[in-house]
Amino acid sequence: MRRFELVIPANVDECVRALKGRGPEVKVLAGGTDLIAQLKVGMVKVATVVDLSGVPELRVLEGDAQRGFRIGAAATARTLERDARLRAALPSLSESGALVGSIQIRNLATLGGNVCNAAPSADMAPPLIALDAEAVIVGPNGRRKVAMASFFEGVRKTVLAPEELLLEFAVPPTGPRSGGAYLRHTPRRELDIAVVGVAAQIALTDGVCRKVRIALAAVAPTPVRATAAEQALEGQPLTPQAITRAADLAVEAARPISDQRGSAEFRRHLVRVLTRRSLTIALERATA
Ligand SMILES: Cc1cc2nc3c(=O)[nH]c(=O)nc-3n(C[C@H](O)[C@H](O)[C@H](O)COP(=O)(O)OP(=O)(O)OC[C@H]3O[C@@H](n4cnc5c(N)ncnc54)[C@H](O)[C@@H]3O)c2cc1C
Repeated sequence: MRRFELVIPANVDECVRALKGRGPEVKVLAGGTDLIAQLKVGMVKVATVVDLSGVPELRVLEGDAQRGFRIGAAATARTLERDARLRAALPSLSESGALVGSIQIRNLATLGGNVCNAAPSADMAPPLIALDAEAVIVGPNGRRKVAMASFFEGVRKTVLAPEELLLEFAVPPTGPRSGGAYLRHTPRRELDIAVVGVAAQIALTDGVCRKVRIALAAVAPTPVRATAAEQALEGQPLTPQAITRAADLAVEAARPISDQRGSAEFRRHLVRVLTRRSLTIALERATA
């Protein structure tokens, strides 16, 4: 591994100062489960690493179903998996955290690292998009918010400038009679990445779908929303037929590639199956 300077700030202001003016030669380190491997093989080359472990603000976790949540960028996958409030109010996000790697990986892997690494297969990204979450970003010019649906620009590319830090996620209230789910397919049960992942989030009024979001992983360079499927469901009762039709429409949003882990055709099939199942679970949770 190439030698680099290590900076360990104690708060967000110090982080911003540490990142300022260094351009792409600086990287922040959260859990390191992506970055360390990338540094070791020379895929990423840096002069400076800014270690976030000493910044407690980045681990904030507060809120509830009525007010929405603030979730710090350095909240770990294990926290999402185990926190009782998140499990009850945001089950899709909690489920996605529970699927990441092994317990050892989940204790290190952070929500912010998952989305900033911007792998098409990132498990924790689709639930954030389906929940209409916003990324709160801080940099030398202050703070800005970006909808997670607009956060990703390509494989390993996000809206973040090198000098910017992802601070936290703002998750709005999901409202009454709402439910969500995240499902993925992997050939192996553990320590594998999604061949396809699907997050669904619905809200009902008088038995009719008031709002629905469907977000897909690993079927395009970035996570994508299945908007045609969403439009087909909004304002309709969520009958099994309507859900099956939406699952067919979700396939239109997918632009999958064929690789060693699955053909494009298999991935389209998985989008259909996992969309149907995740909507069905979301509906069960909304009506429980
Ligand atoms: C064995 C193994 C299994 C895995 N399984 C899965 C899996 O099942 N599903 C899955 O989605 N991923 C999986 N991963 C990938 C990885 O664990 C996740 O992407 C993890 O969430 C990354 O978080 P991290 O804190 O370790 O990020 P890091 O490695 O610390 O950082 C990743 C990138 O994000 C940047 N970054 C981190 N935090 C911030 C911030 N606050 N602001 C700006 N930039 C930031 C870093 O500079 C770096 O570029 C696996 C990895 C391993 C090694």
